[in-house]
Amino acid sequence: MSEPVDLRSDTLTRPTPGMIEAMGRAPVGDDVYAEDPSIAALEARVAELLGHEAGLFCVTGSMSNLLGVRALVGPGEEVLCDRDAHIARAEMGAHGALHGITMRTWPSARGVTTVDDIASMLAPDAGPYLVSTAAVALENTHNFGGGTVQPLDHLQAVHALCRDAGVRLHLDGARLWNAHVATGVDLATYGRLFDTVSVCFSKGMGAPVGSVLVSDASTIAEARVRRKRLGGGWRQAGGLAAACAYALDHHVDRLADDHAAARAFAEEVAARAPQAIDPAAVETNIVVLDTGSRRGGDVALAAAERGVLISGLGPHMVRAVTHLGVAAEACRRAGRVVGELLGA
Ligand SMILES: *Cc1c(COP(=O)(O)O)cnc(C)c1O
Repeated sequence: MSEPVDLRSDTLTRPTPGMIEAMGRAPVGDDVYAEDPSIAALEARVAELLGHEAGLFCVTGSMSNLLGVRALVGPGEEVLCDRDAHIARAEMGAHGALHGITMRTWPSARGVTTVDDIASMLAPDAGPYLVSTAAVALENTHNFGGGTVQPLDHLQAVHALCRDAGVRLHLDGARLWNAHVATGVDLATYGRLFDTVSVCFSKGMGAPVGSVLVSDASTIAEARVRRKRLGGGWRQAGGLAAACAYALDHHVDRLADDHAAARAFAEEVAARAPQAIDPAAVETNIVVLDTGSRRGGDVALAAAERGVLISGLGPHMVRAVTHLGVAAEACRRAGRVVGELLGA
């Protein structure tokens, strides 16, 4: 049997030879002493790209989100977010466990809610009996929603709502690159709508690790102290920053290929199991399939036996994610296999 087609996640990418070469060439120094030129350059570059003053290189998107939300929300205050948000479901309760922050969540269709739903939940200055809302957090693209792009006019409306209410705004932009490539909206146009933004390099960008948090200079200075407190201070990690810089140079535009491959995968599934997915709803590199009465985990197991790896993420949901490690033709083939399973 040939190699399995691995669509479990875009975190599975391996550094390319060109990236490894760039990592080896990077000038380095002790970043706790502010002496790593490669990290400093990456932080400045990402901040500028996103329309912010300063950046902070972090090991994971979870750490960037943890520090970004904490910059806006104090212990005993709340952040509002989608019920399927990464910060609510996939960060091991860190915002509560480490920072004393509570969450309330809204339901959504595929990760995108309405401004009215958010407005109805805002409770800034809630007084002595209720938890006060300090921030709202959005995710773009939305991972568990199926790689959904948050429409720009929606983001602008949420921005206006929060600004008028005195509530701050965090963006989990782990895959903001994908939203940018799918829509053509400038990264800074997205970035400027938020007080803090996190982006990831370890997903479709193909770097081994890395995330950057951006905000204004004093917020980032404070986050730098908290990062060290979490044990996240870097020493000579410039090689890792160089991998991220290489991804900015070489792996942004090619995300369009991943989006096309995801659409092709979905089309092949829909041709055999139309109830599982509407291919037109696939906006970026993530495809969430409805497995109907079948259990998601069982479908993922059956697909694995046929050489296709996907994730069972919910009782009746599986997720496939395209990335630079899998060619479009293999994604098409994988779609045929999964479609046959779900159509049978
Ligand atoms: C992957 C991801 C993160 C960060 O995950 P890490 O594994 O901690 O880097 C954050 N938000 C979203 C939406 C993600 O998909």
